[in-house]
Amino acid sequence: MSEYKMLINGQLVTSDDKMSVINPSTGESIVDCPRGTKHHIDAAVAAAKAAFPGWSATPVAARAALLNKLADALEARSEEFARVLTTEQGKPLAEATGEVAFTAGFIRYFAGLELPMKVVEDSADRHVEMHRVPLGVVAAITPWNFPLLIVAFKLPPALLAGNTLVLKPAPTTPLTSLLLGELCRDVFPAGVVNIVTDKNDLGDHLTSHPDVAKVSFTGSTATGKKVMASAASGIKRITLELGGNDAGIVLDDAVPKDVAPGIFQGAMWNSGQVCLALKRLYVHESIYDELCSELAKLADAAIVDDGFAQGVQFGPVQNAMQFEKVKGFLADAKANGNIIAGGDAMDRPGYFIRPTIVRDVTDGTKIVDEEQFGPILPVIKYSDEDDVFARANASPYGLGGSIWSSDADRAASLALKLQAGTVWINKHLDLAPHIPFAGAKQSGLGIEFADEGLAEFTQIRVVNRGATA
Ligand code: NAD
Repeated sequence: MSEYKMLINGQLVTSDDKMSVINPSTGESIVDCPRGTKHHIDAAVAAAKAAFPGWSATPVAARAALLNKLADALEARSEEFARVLTTEQGKPLAEATGEVAFTAGFIRYFAGLELPMKVVEDSADRHVEMHRVPLGVVAAITPWNFPLLIVAFKLPPALLAGNTLVLKPAPTTPLTSLLLGELCRDVFPAGVVNIVTDKNDLGDHLTSHPDVAKVSFTGSTATGKKVMASAASGIKRITLELGGNDAGIVLDDAVPKDVAPGIFQGAMWNSGQVCLALKRLYVHESIYDELCSELAKLADAAIVDDGFAQGVQFGPVQNAMQFEKVKGFLADAKANGNIIAGGDAMDRPGYFIRPTIVRDVTDGTKIVDEEQFGPILPVIKYSDEDDVFARANASPYGLGGSIWSSDADRAASLALKLQAGTVWINKHLDLAPHIPFAGAKQSGLGIEFADEGLAEFTQIRVVNRGATA
């Protein structure tokens, strides 16, 4: 492995402090990388602040051209990025390759957006224009489940809008962000992008920094609340993409063997470590037994292995802390339901847990009510349609949800009953950069992706002129 460095003011820098990055497939250290300090955060924010006047005055088309250059540079090294991603995160190499390509796609998408001035009124009385202006220094904080892709939800729109950035990746998956820093150093003027690592101890210092104008945060709801509190002192702009406990509702007319593969993938993709994964499945009593069996068959057949293994479908849980958490959920599932596939950590090094299906479980248990963020799907029986929507909506979360039926129109007619930012019909997990993404309730605040997401990196400035006659 090469030497990884942080990016501050256009320089790749190291730190006297180091931290080990662990390969979740082995539990062993991959490399020691620099561990940032408060001084690094301060230097990064100062560099971003100093770069802001020049960058915000750069024409949008020129900023977009540099974003496209970043996408080119990423694609040119995509194989290396994918391998590092699999090594630090654990996901299958094919999925890591997909994540790199999707990341480049997000960068290009945002590079293609514009920030047009809008004439609000042009009359004999007044001429009113609404401009969208950048905010200043944006702090971007990312989690460990999609360490590269989630950077592309934040960096490209922040920069296109004319802001400068300080990125703090998750402590267990900093390597792809640091590699991206190498590319950013060669593409952007000094200070426009800065990247500082931490050991889960600098987030608050960054979000509370007086020179940070906006925080774009993806992570757990518990941390999101801290970010919100810390942003309050400066009335900072915030976008929060937080936890979820997405419900899937399978209507009585669904055909179990037809819907099982989509449900299974929606629950288990990335070993269940997806904010928008299907995390509790409500199935009508008339097809409950059959669908449970179909899901168990898929779980039993799944290939769980090191992300570099041939034919692997699911890698390990990403880190030791999450591994322990998921084992706690397994214990709860055993106590409160019947496990019909999986159920245990695998007897091998690393943080492996087989896809687990739990039946005969109900609301009011930890495995149903809380976010497991791992490869366990609780399957809950229901008999009444109104009741099942009330149960699905009883969660404090509201990120996504799905309705499954042989009659897609019937399912779609129920979609607005589900309190969630996204409701899918006969699928779960389908994101694209042009489709706005936002959590309801405690799953988030604000919008990412699309024009609406870009607007969150701006402030409106209204210019109101009197009649010129
Ligand atoms: P986490 O909240 O523990 O950490 C997320 C990031 O916040 C990390 O970079 C961490 O170092 C940083 N952080 C920690 N303390 C902080 C503080 N006081 N102030 C600012 N930053 C701080 O989350 P995680 O365990 O890395 O990720 C899993 C969670 O993220 C799950 O709940 C999942 O649902 C959620 N998630 C949400 C989305 C979404 O788009 N809604 C996407 C991916 C993950």
